[in-house]
Amino acid sequence: MTTLKISVLPGDGIGPEVTAEALKVLHTVTQLYKGIEFELETFDVGAERFLKTGSAMTEEAFTHCKEADAIFMGAIGLPEARHPDGREVNGDVIFRLRFDLDLYAGVRPVRFYPGVPTVMTNTSKVDYVVVRENVEGLYASRNGGCRVRDDLTTDTIVITRSGTEKVVKYAFKLAAQRASRRLGLSPTVTCVDKSNVLKSYAFFREVFDGVAKDYPDIHTEREYVDAMAAYQVLNPERLDVLVMENMFGDILSDLAGATVGGLGMAASGDIGDDHAMFQPAHGTAPTIAGKNVANPTATILSAAMMLDWLGDKHQLPQLIDGARMIERAVSDALQDGSARTVDLGGHRSTSESGSAVVNRMLQIGGDHGVRS
Ligand code: ATP
Repeated sequence: MTTLKISVLPGDGIGPEVTAEALKVLHTVTQLYKGIEFELETFDVGAERFLKTGSAMTEEAFTHCKEADAIFMGAIGLPEARHPDGREVNGDVIFRLRFDLDLYAGVRPVRFYPGVPTVMTNTSKVDYVVVRENVEGLYASRNGGCRVRDDLTTDTIVITRSGTEKVVKYAFKLAAQRASRRLGLSPTVTCVDKSNVLKSYAFFREVFDGVAKDYPDIHTEREYVDAMAAYQVLNPERLDVLVMENMFGDILSDLAGATVGGLGMAASGDIGDDHAMFQPAHGTAPTIAGKNVANPTATILSAAMMLDWLGDKHQLPQLIDGARMIERAVSDALQDGSARTVDLGGHRSTSESGSAVVNRMLQIGGDHGVRS
């Protein structure tokens, strides 16, 4: 029996509701695939905690997250939970974990699931990944910046060779892994930048070109960020793995989510060499919290990403199978309507949506027999 320790941070707003559904799905994986168990440790972390105690996360919770095999988070933050200087407290948790555990790759898969309403017309083959550099870029100026004069401010972008190499290598390895799992796909990594305007982005591209030489079997492309925004809307079927600077990744991954059904569909992982944290890309949506109406799909798909990462890291193929099974069950349950929540034009509650995915997994597991 392999036991994997997961630190669970349900968080605020809709966080606990969507996390509960993802945990139901993880439990189903352990029922269907013998030999794996998850030791879940849940921590009270986030804005509610900050409002009650003045601290969003204890050192003890941080240490447990650091020692866990993976971190699984719902959503963190409330508009009223702020530091005296106006900063939201979600950074106390998310940035702390991201920076202190060096979760340098922000990974956002973008996949269209049939049955989900979309503004797009050509969605059938949309299946790509935005890889965002997570700890440098323009956001490295966070809490810095310079009010040069009363009428002038500046923020400085940070691009290092080592930081860029790490995230670009991650993108190439991911492209190779995707191709190995889907016969016939020729892997492509696209560098997204604005190298025609800023030196920092020209340097990002220079480092990308250097890393690309080590992966001769992977096709490469280079696009300016403004052109890429248009391709994501007009020709998303030609995209595979995109890698880019922090702020560009923040913006283009939200655009990507909007093209495949919105925030309730967007899964994400913050991934490093030794640690990783998985959470839906959406926030805490306080206006719909506690009503059992939030869409749990993004959180459930983030759980599938976690299994993929753990399966790869610990050489546990049944976890990778489990991830594929979750995706298939989500796809089926969205298509037949049983998992479609209000934001997707359906009428299922949060818990009904999660249960629909679980039921579909049990059906698929029954059809194919249990794996050990
Ligand atoms: P944050 O500033 O915390 O990142 P945000 O500005 O991205 O938050 P969210 O909290 O993600 O905002 O939500 C914005 C709106 O999107 C919500 O009010 C809600 O209507 C919708 N939304 C977000 N997540 C979901 C979900 N899982 N299910 C249904 N609707 C959602």
